Amino acid sequence: MQYKSTRNNQYLVSASEAIIKGLADDGGLFVPTSFPTFNLDWNELKEFSYQEMATFVLRAFLDDFSAEQVQTCVEAAYDDKFDDPAIAPLVEVGGKHYLELFHGPTIAFKDQALSILPHLMSTANQIQDNNRDIVILTATSGDTGKAAMAGFADVPGTKIIVFYPKGGVSSIQEQQMVSQVGDNTYVIAVNGNFDRAQSKVKELFNDETLRAKLAEHDTQFSSANSMNIGRLVPQIVYYFYAYAQMVKQQAILPGDLIDFCVPTGNFGNILAAYYAKQSGVPIDKLLCASNDNRVLYDFFHGGKYDINREFELTISPSMDILISSNFERLVFHAINEDDRLLKEYMQELTDRKSYAIPEKYHANFSEFVAEFATQTETMEEIKEVYEKTGYVLDPHTAVASKAHRKASQQSLSHKPVVIISTASPYKFPEAVLRALGIETDGLSDADLLNKLNELSGVAYPEAIEGLLEAEVRHNTTIDIEDMKAKVEEIALA
Ligand SMILES: *Cc1c(COP(=O)(O)O)cnc(C)c1O
Repeated sequence: MQYKSTRNNQYLVSASEAIIKGLADDGGLFVPTSFPTFNLDWNELKEFSYQEMATFVLRAFLDDFSAEQVQTCVEAAYDDKFDDPAIAPLVEVGGKHYLELFHGPTIAFKDQALSILPHLMSTANQIQDNNRDIVILTATSGDTGKAAMAGFADVPGTKIIVFYPKGGVSSIQEQQMVSQVGDNTYVIAVNGNFDRAQSKVKELFNDETLRAKLAEHDTQFSSANSMNIGRLVPQIVYYFYAYAQMVKQQAILPGDLIDFCVPTGNFGNILAAYYAKQSGVPIDKLLCASNDNRVLYDFFHGGKYDINREFELTISPSMDILISSNFERLVFHAINEDDRLLKEYMQELTDRKSYAIPEKYHANFSEFVAEFATQTETMEEIKEVYEKTGYVLDPHTAVASKAHRKASQQSLSHKPVVIISTASPYKFPEAVLRALGIETDGLSDADLLNKLNELSGVAYPEAIEGLLEAEVRHNTTIDIEDMKAKVEEIALA
């Protein structure tokens, strides 16, 4: 199997090369040249553990890794760092299924991929005989940063630099990041929103002078964002696993079609669902759920990607994104992999902040259904689900839960659904309690967490234990313009 750049069809690399690089040198993203074919016997697959499913799926997508190498990575990643032996339990609540992807060390779905990425990267280095040090450069909307550092902390031959938008993440998310241990971890707040930080990170990746300077120091950049296929491919695993669990729980028969509803920001999670579908998982619709930053909703209703709008800060901060990086991959597939046309669109997005896809390609997006939930609707959904079932949703999952409700009312989704549950409510206690009608003014983070504990009856995740008392080890804030100098200083030290 090979991967090619969305901005140059001739630029082919193996899986291990793509993982080490992160982004293609031409600024494009790597995509598979074709999708693997699986023999999907769901009566057999439904008995697979998460680890077995991960090995099954990863082997096909990372075919220059040996079976042993894949298995070693899987075993190192999905162990008792996760507080549920199922790793990704599928639970039924009020007639809908939620796939809980928040049982990892940082209680958000990013752990699913970032607990394995460092292992995939060091294995890829061995395969490629690459001796350069790797500097992981990452912009985070709140969850990637912590999960990536948890994976890369003190991994020899790596440094990790995380930029997060000051004031754009929850207080728990910020505390998780600034208390990060590890001599190779660097956390820096920036004055600006996620989009601006992410665009700057991409620019640094594509800066040839900087790349050359690093090379002189036997160092190179890589990415822990979902731009890296080493992040994307492990996310495909849980769509296979969720389907198998639906069969096992007798919610469906093998072969029945189901829908997935995914709370979406950078379009990495839902793109993995699309790749699972291309690989044969019986999926009907992919529901793309947005918050008030509903660029994708507007795109799917008219074919124009338009970021000429206010950037909204919401209670689902990990979805506060206007430029969804991975959408480039879907567009590339949908326009029949026309790299030249894709490049034009990306240039228009930079120059005019929008691009429009011609009508003739619209049908290629028809597997997707888009809905959104406003902030008020999201809070109502948290309350309604809690009052009916006692189950507490985090604000991101609530966006998806509400979006699915709206889509099914319009008969846009009529198959059994799995809602992708991307974070634990413990990561956003203030927003969740306010949604439940509880006065939060004057309550400390500790009070908020206790209150949530009383209401939900769900035990504290380990990730929260001791967090509030943890020493602050990072407290730098800089402007976007100063990111380059900062990166040089750290990378070349
Ligand atoms: C990152 C994140 C999202 C958005 O996922 P994308 O892959 O960026 O679309 C949604 N919810 C939570 C909790 C997240 O951390």
